[in-house]
Amino acid sequence: MDTNPRVALVTGANKGIGLEIARQLAQAGVFVIIGARHIGRANAAVADLAAQGLVSEPLLVDLNDLEGMPQAARAIEDKYGRLDILVNNAGIVDPDDGAPSAGMPEAARRIMDTNFIGTLAVTQAMLPLLRTSQAARIVNVSSSLGSLTLNGDPDSPYYAVRLIGYNASKAALNMLTVQLAAELRDTNIVVNSVSPGYVATDLNGHSGPMSVQDGARLPVKYALLGDDAVSGRFVEPDGSTPW
Ligand code: NAP
Repeated sequence: MDTNPRVALVTGANKGIGLEIARQLAQAGVFVIIGARHIGRANAAVADLAAQGLVSEPLLVDLNDLEGMPQAARAIEDKYGRLDILVNNAGIVDPDDGAPSAGMPEAARRIMDTNFIGTLAVTQAMLPLLRTSQAARIVNVSSSLGSLTLNGDPDSPYYAVRLIGYNASKAALNMLTVQLAAELRDTNIVVNSVSPGYVATDLNGHSGPMSVQDGARLPVKYALLGDDAVSGRFVEPDGSTPW
């Protein structure tokens, strides 16, 4: 057993891809903190992993509660003194999102608040802890729907998916990856955007062809990148994807 395991926080880890990322990280010997916006859901995920002999811990992390971020960071600092991996996985879609001509602006605001503003806030709150790690990794769970290039390419399968709020939120998340990777260029912190693929979860009514096991694989790979880690990339299961 690893006596000094890496410590990871996964947001939105109570279900879907996030829970599976947590499971695969724990199976790789990482100590995982299950971030969730309801502590009961985090506890249930911890119990789920425990049933497989995997140890994790629940933590209240609500991306819509910016004032709660320092408390979440303090809880990690008090217990571990550092954070090695941050997987920014939590995200939403909204039924009132839609094409730019019709998607409701309030829906776009809700999505941006969670997927971008909340992720920015949790990242900022965790940065001091990540700076104390010898080799920190930030994985922003993005989507190929956030690619400006693919949204404008009639030959792309993503061209027809007109969700102005969701797609813009993932493009904004990608901007966080690019700017943060540049800002942290000379540090021990590596930042990447990872599109998991089209995965069957509650987010899409389980319409995706991929399992959560397969969808978690690439985010986990980027969370565990070694010494030769690249930073500031946007990848999907088929390889690199254009910004
Ligand atoms: P999911 O099953 O709906 O899980 C989303 C997770 O985010 C849940 O744990 C949810 O918590 C959490 N969450 C939502 N709002 C939150 C908030 N304000 N604070 C904290 N947590 C919050 O969806 P998923 O498919 O696994 O999605 C995970 C990530 O993958 C998302 O960022 C999504 O955009 C991205 N993604 C998914 C696909 C796909 O095909 N599924 C493709 C590309 C990218 P609750 O249970 O409390 O709602």
